[in-house]
Amino acid sequence: MENDYDVLVAGCGPGGSSAASYLARAGKRVLVLEKEVFPRFHIGESLLPCNQAIFRELGVLPAIQAAGFPRKLAARFCLGNGYPSTRYAFRDGRFSSEPEVFSVERALFDHILLKHARTLGADVREGWSVTKSTADEGGVRVEAVDPEGKHHVFRAAFLIDATGRTNLTGNQEQVRVIHPRHKKIAIFFHFTGVALDAGEAAGDTIIVRLENKWFWIIPVSATKTSVGLVIDKEEFAAQGGQPEAVFQRWHQSSAVMRERLRQAAAAGPVRTTTDFSYVNRRLVSLRTMRVGDAAGFMDPIFSAGVYLAMWSGKLAAEVVLGARGPADELAGPMRKFEKRVNAGMRFYWKMVENYYTTPFMELFLQPRRHASLPDAIIAMLAGQLEGGWNLRWRVRYFFFLVKLQAHRALVPRLSFAAVARRERGEAAHP
Ligand SMILES: Cc1cc2nc3c(=O)[nH]c(=O)nc-3n(C[C@H](O)[C@H](O)[C@H](O)COP(=O)(O)OP(=O)(O)OC[C@H]3O[C@@H](n4cnc5c(N)ncnc54)[C@H](O)[C@@H]3O)c2cc1C
Repeated sequence: MENDYDVLVAGCGPGGSSAASYLARAGKRVLVLEKEVFPRFHIGESLLPCNQAIFRELGVLPAIQAAGFPRKLAARFCLGNGYPSTRYAFRDGRFSSEPEVFSVERALFDHILLKHARTLGADVREGWSVTKSTADEGGVRVEAVDPEGKHHVFRAAFLIDATGRTNLTGNQEQVRVIHPRHKKIAIFFHFTGVALDAGEAAGDTIIVRLENKWFWIIPVSATKTSVGLVIDKEEFAAQGGQPEAVFQRWHQSSAVMRERLRQAAAAGPVRTTTDFSYVNRRLVSLRTMRVGDAAGFMDPIFSAGVYLAMWSGKLAAEVVLGARGPADELAGPMRKFEKRVNAGMRFYWKMVENYYTTPFMELFLQPRRHASLPDAIIAMLAGQLEGGWNLRWRVRYFFFLVKLQAHRALVPRLSFAAVARRERGEAAHP
């Protein structure tokens, strides 16, 4: 049994480093065990503006600014043929306060966050894998393997599971549930020479929607742009299961993608990832909290993963910092933590489920300009999870209109078939 800690954090992605930084800054003894040695590649590069408040609170914003990441001022959504295309600029939103954020190369970004947690006093160990945890009323007992393969046991008052999609404690407790329908695969590259928009729009995240699949285009450095395709696993397999070939096929099918990648050259290997849509039935257990992807994840369309990870890391830290009395008094704050994180994740689940329907896309790409609905959409895209009533009723109203749009055309219909024909140059858009 090794040194006792107030908190053991498993994993040092954005969720783990956020929790560790808040706790170490408050004077807690924090041990962070991270399986990899940083910098290491990670997907998840487009951030949400609400992340800025956390960067500021933790004092890490200057280091992130100094890294020279592209500024993300807006998100642009379009169909494969470029019609219609809607740009949501964050500074235009009445219900969100942050006008911009960055898109990042995660290897560098996660390393900045890890080093910051260390600077604030967390004992961060790289190359250490957590293998098992058990808990009792008094605390948690965590087993881990060091870089030389030696086994260790640590004891701490709390465990924050930030192991991402490894989902260490969720799997251990068998509470992980894979989404029954969203079985997707993402195929992605870093490219140089991608055609971006001019001026301040050069840092925009661009989403290109085909009928039942979509591309992202995310500038991550002065020269590199991340480009990925998200497609049904079944379709991918039916098309031969070769990532590069499937990517090429669909990128060639879209006028927008052909134009954007005309001069592009791959700046790294093709990568794939799959089975990323799941939830955990419980986010807390005895003295244990799951944050970020260890709590759950959905389709990456709305770029919410890093923000949800850092926000839930912060909320978990608040539970620990508020814990003064005996263990049974923890139940209330932990339940509240679970409720808030679940509500945040459910919100994005709803967005994702809707995103794959045509009525949602029709209203999303052609927003009605009344009741400040475009501002409400901007707030959703900015990560404004807990906005006040002014935002909440508009979000509900927006989803009500989506339901209505399914039966009555409030805005012009989009026909993906027509789009596909147009992409092949066969017909004009109606
Ligand atoms: C295709 C795709 C595209 C995405 N695009 C975006 C995007 O544009 N924007 C966005 O915000 N999000 C995006 N995401 C989501 C984003 O990647 C995650 O939500 C985010 O990284 C979650 O952060 P985290 O800290 O919870 O987990 P991670 O970042 O995964 O960090 C977990 C850490 O835990 C470590 N670890 C794992 N197991 C152990 C162990 N047993 N012991 C010790 N350490 C361990 C890992 O090495 C890792 O460093 C995307 C996801 C996918 C799949």
